Amino acid sequence: MKTMEVLIELKNVKTYYFIPKGLFKTIAVRAVDGVSLTVHRGETVAIVGESGSGKTTLGKTAVRLLEPIAGKIIFEGKDITHLKGDMLWFRRKAQMIFQDPFTSLNPYMTIRQILEEPLIIHKIGDPSEREEIIAKALTEVKLSPPEEFLSKYPHMLSGGQRQKVGIARALVLRPDFIVADEPVSMIDASSRAEILYLLRNIQREYKMGIMYITHDIATTKYFSDNIAVMYLGKIVEFGPTSKVLKNPLHPYTRALMEAVPDPDPSNRFKERKVIPGEPPSPINPPSGCRFHPRCPYATERCKKEEPKFVEVEPDHYVACYLYE
Ligand code: SF4
Repeated sequence: MKTMEVLIELKNVKTYYFIPKGLFKTIAVRAVDGVSLTVHRGETVAIVGESGSGKTTLGKTAVRLLEPIAGKIIFEGKDITHLKGDMLWFRRKAQMIFQDPFTSLNPYMTIRQILEEPLIIHKIGDPSEREEIIAKALTEVKLSPPEEFLSKYPHMLSGGQRQKVGIARALVLRPDFIVADEPVSMIDASSRAEILYLLRNIQREYKMGIMYITHDIATTKYFSDNIAVMYLGKIVEFGPTSKVLKNPLHPYTRALMEAVPDPDPSNRFKERKVIPGEPPSPINPPSGCRFHPRCPYATERCKKEEPKFVEVEPDHYVACYLYE
C-alpha cells in the first residue's frame, strides 16, 4: 500500500453545519470533527457507520460539495480545501454516485440527455464523439444494447437500472476519484451484488480511487481494500478490510458487525441484534471517548479523555483504551 500513488488526502478535516436557534443563536452540528484519511489511486476505502456518523458529510466534503471549516484536502498534490475559481477541473476528476437513484436523475431528461449533460458542461467532444462516449459508458454498466436505453426516461427503468445510469453519468467524465454514497441501499437485494461487482470491475480497469460509504459492514468484504469506521464525526478504527472484518477491535465496530442480519434463511425470524443505547447526535457530542455512553467497557477515564489512535497490528489502527 505504501508504494501506491496518493490520490486524495484529508488532513484533520472538520465540516460543521450551523443551524439557527432563536433570533441570535446558532447550534453547531459537528458532522465531521477532525478526520484524516488517504485514498490511493486504484484503492477503495469503505467508510462505515450508522446514520448520523458523518460519513455522507465526509464524502461530500471530499468531492467539495461541502467546504470544510478546518483542515486540508489535498487532491493529486493540489490543495483544494477552499478552491473556488477552477472548480471545473476538479469536478471532472471527482464524481459522486448518490444513494437514491429515484431522485438523483432528472425525470424530464432522457438517458441520452442525462449522460450528455456533463460532457457538454466540460466541453468534451462533438455530438458524434459524445454519442460514442455515452454508448461505451452504458455498455460498461451493462445497459446494452445502448440504443435500447438512450431515449428512455428514468421512470421507465428499474431501480437497479437507474443506479447503473447514475454510475454511467459519473463514468463519462473518466474521473480519477468517485465517492459512492450507499450506492446499493435503495435498490432490490437481487441487484445489489451485481452493482457492487460492476463498480469493482470498472474501478480496477481505470485505476480509480473510490470512497465507498455504507452502513452495511458486510458489503465491504467484496468491495473495499481498507475500512474506516466512523462514529459521531470521527474515525475510531482503520485498517485493511480483511483484518478489520476478521479481528474487529473497537467495541463499536464489533457492535456494527453483530447488527448485520443473519444470512441464513432459517434464522430469519430471530431478533436482529441492534447496537445498544441512544443513536448518536452530532450536536454536543459526549466528552472523552464519544462512544462511552453506549460502550459496555467504559471506565471513568473514557468519560474524560479522548483515546488516541494506536497501531495494534501492522496497518490496523484503533482509538480505544482497551488497546493501550
Ligand atoms: Fe469503550 Fe473506553 Fe474504548 Fe471508548 S475508549 S470504546 S468507552 S473502552
